[in-house]
Amino acid sequence: MAPLSKAGTALAALREDLAGEVFAPGDPGYDEARRVFNAMIDRRPAVIAQCDSVADVVTAVRFARDLDLPVAVRGGGHSVAGMALNDGGVVVDLRRMNEVTVHPAAKAVRLGGGATMGHLDRACLPYDLATPGGRVSTTGVGGFVLGGGDGWLSRAFGLASDNLLGVELVTADGTVVEATAEERPDLFWALHGGGGNFGVATALTLRLHDLPALSIAMMFCLPEYGPQVIATFREIVESGPAETGGAALYLTGPPEEFLPEHLVGQRLCGALLVYPGPEDRLRKLAEPLLAVPHEAEIVTAIPYAELQCMLDDPPGMRNYWSAEYLTGVPDAFVDAFCALGEAMPVPTGTQHLVWPQGGAIAEGAGDWPLGHRDAAWAVHPFGIWEEPAEDERIREWVRDVRAGVAPWSTGATYLNFIGDEGAERVMAGVGADNYRRLAEVKREYDPENVFRFNHNIRPL
Ligand SMILES: Cc1cc2nc3c(=O)[nH]c(=O)nc-3n(C[C@H](O)[C@H](O)[C@H](O)COP(=O)(O)OP(=O)(O)OC[C@H]3O[C@@H](n4cnc5c(N)ncnc54)[C@H](O)[C@@H]3O)c2cc1C
Repeated sequence: MAPLSKAGTALAALREDLAGEVFAPGDPGYDEARRVFNAMIDRRPAVIAQCDSVADVVTAVRFARDLDLPVAVRGGGHSVAGMALNDGGVVVDLRRMNEVTVHPAAKAVRLGGGATMGHLDRACLPYDLATPGGRVSTTGVGGFVLGGGDGWLSRAFGLASDNLLGVELVTADGTVVEATAEERPDLFWALHGGGGNFGVATALTLRLHDLPALSIAMMFCLPEYGPQVIATFREIVESGPAETGGAALYLTGPPEEFLPEHLVGQRLCGALLVYPGPEDRLRKLAEPLLAVPHEAEIVTAIPYAELQCMLDDPPGMRNYWSAEYLTGVPDAFVDAFCALGEAMPVPTGTQHLVWPQGGAIAEGAGDWPLGHRDAAWAVHPFGIWEEPAEDERIREWVRDVRAGVAPWSTGATYLNFIGDEGAERVMAGVGADNYRRLAEVKREYDPENVFRFNHNIRPL
């Protein structure tokens, strides 16, 4: 840590040099600038550098290095562990760098490192082009893609990172580099799931796919039909077209128009099928699901950007999440999953999700750092609630889900969907061989582990 006088002079120079804005404790706007999606996170960085350009990012990284301060990188601020922030260090905040340029002829899109899914999806919509994205529009594309990126279209087009064509990166010494399949292929490989370990991604280029039609079938029913819903959803996904995505879940009835009022706030079970094709085909596919007695249904064609906003949760809630990849979802799993759904704390924003892998996700096996491509399904208990008094009850339920589904777990987890569960779980996210290879790349680009507010890969 630098002496105070040096730090004060350097901070004044940073305020002068940055085209963007700088916030330090006591500045108006500081508290707003350090707020992230998970309301449980209350960290106080020494400096938040809201960068406007690549040059700003270089300046902010060099500022932190000169003063020997830890660096956190903020994209959309959706990491449930609050990895976008640190205490007493520098936050490189990319939110102003959210420009999106679509190249329809090349079927590619280039976006700033702080763009959200909403920025990306809205820009692509007029061209009937899309790339697999996170399931809510406020998630940052940077953290999502670098961590793998599993979305409604992933069984059709792969993980988001499978569609990564190039990254512009500011490394730990403040150098700007490009990583593509041809240029720095090791770094490019590591950026497909290795997260923010290797530098600040100031721009990402992603492959786009034609998406002339998209339809959804969604139904909600009373929890006693849970086992029937989950089993029927499984049959449809496992026997239907490989590109069909979606999830089955337990949730608290949301205050939405499509739900009868008496079910708002009640425990419900439901399923969502997402099909990259016309509504009539999906309606046929969804027939067995819609034959289960239910309280509400929506079957419709829908623009992708609209589907992506459908689950948007308000910020300011408390969050505790986990995830497990599964070998399969046999009947015994269905019973265990439903029993855990019956124990889910209600009414809260908490959800208990099981969703299919396979399809185009499985095709990336062996190529990239995320080593779980053989998993058939995944389970994702995510606690979302308002009252601090509920903290322990909901955390305990999430841990119960992990323990309850252990007989079907592959042993791997999906890092984007977990909080800080320790070094072993980072290893479980990428696998031991990939971890070693990632650690070699880390040694080359960040030997001092400057970028460590992430699912951390320690330099070899
Ligand atoms: C409501 C919600 C819904 C979600 N839905 C999905 C989903 O459907 N599918 C899915 O796969 N994940 C999903 N996620 C998880 C999400 O993908 C991860 O939390 C992701 O890391 C968030 O990225 P961010 O930029 O918003 O977060 P941040 O908290 O800003 O960043 C998360 C991590 O990524 C790093 N990072 C972010 N941007 C950059 C960058 N440009 N360069 C270098 N490092 C960077 C940060 O340093 C940090 O370590 C969801 C999360 C939430 C809260």
